[in-house]
Amino acid sequence: MVKVDINQVSFSYPGADVLHDVTFQIGPGEITGIVGPNGSGKSTLIKCIDTILKPKGSILLDGTNVLKMDSVERARNIGLVPQYGTSAMDSTVFETVLMGRRPHSAWRIRDEDIDKVAETLECLGIKDMAMRTFASLSGGQKQITMLARAICQEPEFLLLDEPTSALDIKNQLEVLDILRTLVKERSMAAIIAIHDLNLGARYADSIVMLREGMVFSTGKADELYTPEMIEEVYGVKAVVLEVLGKPHVVPVSPIKKEPSDQAE
Ligand code: ADP
Repeated sequence: MVKVDINQVSFSYPGADVLHDVTFQIGPGEITGIVGPNGSGKSTLIKCIDTILKPKGSILLDGTNVLKMDSVERARNIGLVPQYGTSAMDSTVFETVLMGRRPHSAWRIRDEDIDKVAETLECLGIKDMAMRTFASLSGGQKQITMLARAICQEPEFLLLDEPTSALDIKNQLEVLDILRTLVKERSMAAIIAIHDLNLGARYADSIVMLREGMVFSTGKADELYTPEMIEEVYGVKAVVLEVLGKPHVVPVSPIKKEPSDQAE
């Protein structure tokens, strides 16, 4: 059971202010989807929350600021599924996923760690790939392996940066179904940066819409997704339908900028 408070998170790369006072909350058992156009700061926000980058503001896990945790405490509490996974040279899928147990077992691998890895590989349907080298996997197989590693870590708070971008539609649904079940069953909190507005609407309990590093709006997708909002944030004419009880954005055409707009 964990509650997460992201408070006034701001971050600048040298010469570029990217995030401005980003604030939102996530309750136990909830997935928050971070959406927004390219360059709006989704990946930077995930890296700030994982403390790979050091932002201003605070990120509280049940009142404890993760920016002040040491690396072991942070790894016990936060799991990251990066956009592009990497693994040590020649590591197998099994060894890569076993790395997720490190915050719990340090250098000594216990039977329960091996069991946990086997169980997770089975649950994600990648048991047959256990002895393949990570480097030999497809992009989608690497993403599933990174998710398995984060799940094995058993964090209370999971961060996912575009975890389905390399997956085919069947794997997208399977992976996000597993994620949703885990988050609910274990009362975890999860943040998923996701390009696809419609997958976001389907799997996230609430949406944070970023534009130019600021929170443009937050709420449930069915309140947030309107043709006006899509036009304003993405510069695209769109219709918003209802499919399977969720809003479904159909982009129609980009809005061409008038020369007078470009001069602004
Ligand atoms: P998104 O994930 O929404 O596409 P990013 O967080 O990747 O957005 O990028 C937000 C902004 O920060 C962009 O303008 C991008 O060019 C800039 N940016 C990202 N990484 C760096 C970096 N390492 N150095 C400088 N600017 C960066």
